[in-house]
Amino acid sequence: MRKQIFCLTVFVCVLSSFSFAQKIMGFTETNAKSQVDWEKKFDEQLSTKNLDTWMQFLTSHPHHVGSVQGKANADYMANLFRSWGYQTEIAEYNVLFPTPKFRQLELLGSKPYKAKLEEATLKEDKTSGQKTEQLPSYNAYSADGDVTAELVFVNRGIPADYDELERMGVSVKGKIVIAKYGGSWRGIKPKVAYEHGAIGCLIYSDPEDDGYSAGDVYPEGPFRPKDGVQRGSVMDMPVYPGDPLTPGFSSTKDAKRLDRNTVVTIMKIPVLPISYEDALPLLQSLSGAVVPAAWRGSLPITYHVGPSKDKVHLKLLFNWDIKSLYNVIAKLPGSELPDEWIIRGNHHDGWVNGAADPTSGMVAEMEEARVIGEMVKKGYKLKRTLVYCAWDGEEQGLLGSTEWAEDHQEELRKKAVAYINSDGNSRGFIGAAGSHTLEPFFNEIADAVIDPQTGVSIKERRYANAVVNGDRAARARLLGNKNIKLGALGAGSDWSGFLQFLGIASLNLGFGGEGSGGEYHSIYDSYDHFVKFKDPGFQYGIALSKTAGRTTMRLANADVIPIDFPSLQKTIADYVTELKMHTETMRLETETENKLINDKLYDLAKDPKKGFESPKPKDAVPFLNFSNLENAMVQLKTSAEEFQKQFGNGLQLPADKQKELNQILFKMERSLINEKGLPRRSWYKHQVYAPGFYTGYGVKTLPGIREGIEERNWKEAQDNIEIVSKTIETYTKEIQKASGVISKKAF
Ligand SMILES: [Zn+2]
Repeated sequence: MRKQIFCLTVFVCVLSSFSFAQKIMGFTETNAKSQVDWEKKFDEQLSTKNLDTWMQFLTSHPHHVGSVQGKANADYMANLFRSWGYQTEIAEYNVLFPTPKFRQLELLGSKPYKAKLEEATLKEDKTSGQKTEQLPSYNAYSADGDVTAELVFVNRGIPADYDELERMGVSVKGKIVIAKYGGSWRGIKPKVAYEHGAIGCLIYSDPEDDGYSAGDVYPEGPFRPKDGVQRGSVMDMPVYPGDPLTPGFSSTKDAKRLDRNTVVTIMKIPVLPISYEDALPLLQSLSGAVVPAAWRGSLPITYHVGPSKDKVHLKLLFNWDIKSLYNVIAKLPGSELPDEWIIRGNHHDGWVNGAADPTSGMVAEMEEARVIGEMVKKGYKLKRTLVYCAWDGEEQGLLGSTEWAEDHQEELRKKAVAYINSDGNSRGFIGAAGSHTLEPFFNEIADAVIDPQTGVSIKERRYANAVVNGDRAARARLLGNKNIKLGALGAGSDWSGFLQFLGIASLNLGFGGEGSGGEYHSIYDSYDHFVKFKDPGFQYGIALSKTAGRTTMRLANADVIPIDFPSLQKTIADYVTELKMHTETMRLETETENKLINDKLYDLAKDPKKGFESPKPKDAVPFLNFSNLENAMVQLKTSAEEFQKQFGNGLQLPADKQKELNQILFKMERSLINEKGLPRRSWYKHQVYAPGFYTGYGVKTLPGIREGIEERNWKEAQDNIEIVSKTIETYTKEIQKASGVISKKAF
């Protein structure tokens, strides 16, 4: 394995050091040369000034779904896309979009405190005072509620934290919980709290994560000031994203909608995000045991788990309106293959003024689209159709992109080659995640784009960072291997409708790591903050245009779709190994743990003065049978390598055969879809990548199997091993079909 990786690295190095050979994956040599020439022209025309000008307009006022500026932004972008030669429309959908009608949080008792729930206007930040236009701090899709109860601190509020609480003898039943942001997607916190019997949920930003402990606070530095609040959706997105009332179909004006009270993705208890200033008096009211060391934040208090001495009163009421959202869809028809689409998207809605999230990515995408449009006017031909998208309503739950993907599902299944997403962007290192068939293709692009601060390729810079700043294990693993391993996609931005619902190969791209701050989803994510701390001079905005622009143009112009089966096969094989090891570790841990319990060691070790409870024994871990999956993986490996050997021949095929081959290749990702979907969430159909049911953003690879194991549902795990085996077999047959097209002609 190691040797293969080494060879690949050498191979890539040879290619890049003899760049005059101009080899690009999927291109004949002649076409590669012309493509590279156009890419040079593309780079030369990108202008930081445009990014700056557009960001100033787009972030001049709060631009969430249903806002005046949100619609103005959609019109502004649509007009620009039209002026660059794109066939542009605004796709409108009508979605459930709750906004706060009433918010109240108070600590009762001897030392009462009324939460401010207000972020301060700063004279250094010119949009921070737009009070009447700002969405107040809240969590969208919280339940309405009026609850009074004792408070319990639940750390990050993930399932493992509740196991710990149980050991401490603390129950949250009938209580309001307070959780720190981080450690999971925020929507997991109220979901798990509710499952454990809590009646309300508060989420606060501990200064340890993105406040004064991380660095100087805004406006002196980029981090979260004491009254900064992270807004955000708590929709149960791991079940399905998009408009909660129309799962699986589009929320057009006359769509038949679910009754709101039956919707499973809306939280069952009231949830409110608060600042650390508002959290402090509440945390000070907690008594009971001191929290485990890993749970402590950096407020100047001793953290206790609770319950609180005094009760907390939380009252939230929402306007449950149906609001219009506006996606901008701009098409540039392909000259040869108009029915093969490369889709490129970024969202345009923000929680408030949203400069970093999402406008930094949006303006980079616009500049990319502008220059491509200009080049097409000057004779640049794109074989396939480009579809540039600016999504609305991403922040509340990928509303705009999901509704559009659901609305056009038939057409997208037939035509979509790939979906390229970006969201926020800042100074730093390239981050890339997505379908592993695109990994070598993406690595070539990372070789070709130059880092604006150091003058080396973005791949070299990322490699240096990973090796220097990685831990010891990462260093040993990475040294000498510059290949960028794509991350796997869970949830978190607009790819879900494309990748996980429809099976369209997807990539998510963005720079970051040197523009950290605490502005996320607050009123301080503004133009002033962005140009001072995130990407001064928009150099990395241009780097994103270059990276995503190349990705889009190369996919649009490739003679043979540049996908690589061995990369996918190796990645899945690693996942399978990981799952087997995980099951083995669980078995050993369960045996040891049960022995400690049965030998009463927990009872003897605990502090008798604290009411801690000993854990209960767990059921033994059975042996799962991975053999069908492993056999399917052997077949996949053989077929993937066979096709790999033939790939070059694909470039020499006559046009009609090449078209036939591409028809198979661009739909390959569809075979990783199982129409029945994942257990308990049929909307998610991809068998390799899904957001975690209990982690949210965090990806679960081979999710059907992995979550069965993690939740100790052994039957479900075994059933899903069989389902995934079948999926791999189907996928392998498609590779063989593709090989058939080549060998018929080549031999
Ligand atoms: Zn975003």
